[in-house]
Amino acid sequence: MTLCSPQRPGTTIAVAIAIAVAASVSGAPRAASPARDSDPGNDFVLRNVRVFDGTRVLSKAQVLVIDGRIAAVGASVKAPHGVAEIDGSGKTVMPGLIDAHAHSWGEAQSDALRFGVTAELDMLGDWNRLPELKRQRESLARTQLADLWSAGAAVTAPGGHGTQYGMKVPTLDADGDPAAFVAGRVAEGSDYIKLILEDFSAHSDTRRLPTITAAQAKIGIDAAHKAGKLGVVHVSRLQDGKAAIAAGGDGLVHMFGEPGDAAFVAAAKKNKVFVVPTLSVLATIARAGEGEKLAADARLAPWLSKEQTDSLKAGFGPGAPAPAVLADAIANVRALHAAGVDILAGTDAGNPGTTHGASMHGELELLVRAGLTPTQALAAATSVPARRFHLDDRGNIAPGQRADLFMVDGDPTRDILATRAIAQVWKNGYAVERVQPKAGTTSLPVGEALPADTLISDFDAELVANAGGLLPSTFGAGWMQTTDRMAGGASVVTVGRGAGGANGSAGALDVSGEIKPGFAFPWSGVMFFPSKVPMQLADLSSRSELVFQARGDGRRYQLMLFHGSQQMPSMQSFEAGPEWKEIRVPLKGFNGADLARVRAIAFTAGQPEGAFAFRIDRVELK
Ligand SMILES: [Zn+2]
Repeated sequence: MTLCSPQRPGTTIAVAIAIAVAASVSGAPRAASPARDSDPGNDFVLRNVRVFDGTRVLSKAQVLVIDGRIAAVGASVKAPHGVAEIDGSGKTVMPGLIDAHAHSWGEAQSDALRFGVTAELDMLGDWNRLPELKRQRESLARTQLADLWSAGAAVTAPGGHGTQYGMKVPTLDADGDPAAFVAGRVAEGSDYIKLILEDFSAHSDTRRLPTITAAQAKIGIDAAHKAGKLGVVHVSRLQDGKAAIAAGGDGLVHMFGEPGDAAFVAAAKKNKVFVVPTLSVLATIARAGEGEKLAADARLAPWLSKEQTDSLKAGFGPGAPAPAVLADAIANVRALHAAGVDILAGTDAGNPGTTHGASMHGELELLVRAGLTPTQALAAATSVPARRFHLDDRGNIAPGQRADLFMVDGDPTRDILATRAIAQVWKNGYAVERVQPKAGTTSLPVGEALPADTLISDFDAELVANAGGLLPSTFGAGWMQTTDRMAGGASVVTVGRGAGGANGSAGALDVSGEIKPGFAFPWSGVMFFPSKVPMQLADLSSRSELVFQARGDGRRYQLMLFHGSQQMPSMQSFEAGPEWKEIRVPLKGFNGADLARVRAIAFTAGQPEGAFAFRIDRVELK
């Protein structure tokens, strides 16, 4: 339910919708498959394989696994009689990858494991799961799930970044006690403490978010250290990166997309901080197309679920490419790495343009682009996060380590793209049954078919709301007002039919209200449900355009298309000026949208605060 990368204003416009989507989608992990007669269980010996052990390469070695743990590794290893032998000729085996920045819910842990990611570090998530996650990762049982560590709730200001995802989260007031706040997280079982220094100025010239101060961060980090926990810091600008280091932060969990400087690099080195740059999500912000490239990679594509493919193709909303964001972030990583600062691979999966598992292969490629050698990039995804986060039984292929392994064809220690040619994944020493999601399918059925008529509403006749408060439409469940009040905001809206529509017609839909402070990403407007029951799936795949008439106060408004099991809508925008104007919106322009499974289309105002008014008329899906 929670993401923590920078969001564009309004991207999380209908949090209640997101909750409804999440509730209607099965988040239950697949049951572990039973052992088969031919299954070697969690004892085996791997022969004649190239080994990347977390730091070094052994060109031809044997790896013995007994009871789910590494028993021996080396050029000559004797296996007990009867232990299954697996030939690794031409292949490379590595420790399972560790994604050091993810937001894991739903199918995340099984999606991750299918791509060789055997552990994820969640950087803001549901703290109620913490005890269960700990039990799971201490077990050596057969599983189809990656292990998970989590920050639980983050240290953020009321209305600040991290509060916009629909879950009621604790926040730290300006006069609150950061040490007591951190103690609360420690009591909940947070594995490390995540602090958020984010005023949104890196992402918008006008938007500002409330944020904790550097002084609060310092007290919080000190409290984390007293409790034996790391304090890691979300930053998105150089100034906050320096403040986080000065406050004693152990790590930065994003890199910023602006030029760094020598003082920053020197401070990072002197204080021995680590950096999880999350280049994958910065590529989404830069609109660099990295997610689309992963979705198109023939080695990855067959293993992606439809939901994963959609997520890889999704973006943060309308806007022009910003290549400098990724280029600056890469240059910063290059400088940090050259200075000897620990770089950890992390994707921020859960966000648009990324997905669990597959995006780690993209992150490795981006780290090599930032100057890490392939083996350094692999270490950044294995032994280095294990060392920095004290994950003592993984990240290396060494005696006593948990046998979380993945083996690929070819040699990723020379060509990093070879990590994508996955031959076998082992979790707790058991071979993972790599179930191939059928190409182009999802666990969700195709939505309800639309009638032949293209007209949704012309608003010419009087509209009488039904018992559920919905205004009728020609097809679908109708129109409903929507605001951020459902997420704790204070914005208001009035929706109703008004006389005099476009082209001399009898009426139009009037939408007016006010965007008020109170929620990090405010919204207000109206939403149409194309299926007979609100939020159920409708099949729009035979339609190509949303066409409507609009006029209004000159603001730019947002169109959000909610689809499939994605919690984030796909977005486009339109301007409502003083004269009626026909707006034609290609449905293909909703990046990553699953048009066969559409739940709602919303027409909304977002930032800036203040009054707004627009009218729409003759709305059609052509
Ligand atoms: Zn994040």
